[in-house]
Amino acid sequence: MHELSLSQAIVDSALAHAQGRRVRSVTVTIGALRQVVPDSLAFHFEIVSRGTLCEGALLQPRLAPARLRCACGEEWELAELTFRCPCCRGADVAVRDGDQLRIDSIEVEEARCIAPR
Ligand SMILES: [Zn+2]
Repeated sequence: MHELSLSQAIVDSALAHAQGRRVRSVTVTIGALRQVVPDSLAFHFEIVSRGTLCEGALLQPRLAPARLRCACGEEWELAELTFRCPCCRGADVAVRDGDQLRIDSIEVEEARCIAPR
């Protein structure tokens, strides 16, 4: 369900940027904190794109690791699900990276690459 709505959002965005041209591939960055299953995303993307200019396009997901930063300035990549700082053991931390789902580029049939603004 999660992947279905995300797939719909990706297709909608790719179609908007393609401006009537056929889409060949879509590259997306998915943060680890989104807990998206890439295979499930690809499966739903294929269904949602049917009958649109995205049909048959290659979905290329890139996984971004989660990064956290503590109030003490320490910044680290989240390897296990703990939100405590490995430096000072504090819990006054903010997510710095890993919660995104971003379309990086789409490729359309003119062989031009369009990055969303
Ligand atoms: Zn700290």
